[in-house]
Amino acid sequence: MVEERYAYPFAELISMTQYKTCPGCGLRLPDRHLDAAERYRASGECRELYHELSAWLMMNQDLGFRAQHAVDAYGAQHSGGVTKNITTAFALIGLYLALEKGFSGRRVQQIHMELARMSIEWPSLEPPAANYAITVADVVRAEEGPAREEMLMEWARCAWDAWRERHDWVRSVCAAHLRLD
Ligand SMILES: [Zn+2]
Repeated sequence: MVEERYAYPFAELISMTQYKTCPGCGLRLPDRHLDAAERYRASGECRELYHELSAWLMMNQDLGFRAQHAVDAYGAQHSGGVTKNITTAFALIGLYLALEKGFSGRRVQQIHMELARMSIEWPSLEPPAANYAITVADVVRAEEGPAREEMLMEWARCAWDAWRERHDWVRSVCAAHLRLD
């Protein structure tokens, strides 16, 4: 009987935990009533994890060059809504260059700057209705060091794969505006 007396409030407490689903990546996190992200179609809770990851990447100088891939993976998984067309386009271009061309984050950054100078009118790209197997949470939860670095690249791959219907568009945009080889 004692057990029952204590079990009830505990069960109630568990059921009271409210979860919020990120509108971009679909990540479910305990709702802490944070405001939605301003520049990404993302819940504030998800955005906070991304800030945590960015801070960690910045603190690790040797991993700093990976930060661009995190920016692009996050941008690709949080497109539509308040996210600007250029953010989505740059995210997809960045992922393409990193994953299919093997470019470093630094080189991707240079190309983004090059493209920004061209004043291209970027189209609105409808995000895929994706159920992402890997989100920013998996990267943050991975053990610090090589495991996390590896997970970061798997996350980027997952984000890129989900946009497969736009791969040809990305390749043609790059071919039209850049000299990559
Ligand atoms: Zn999210």
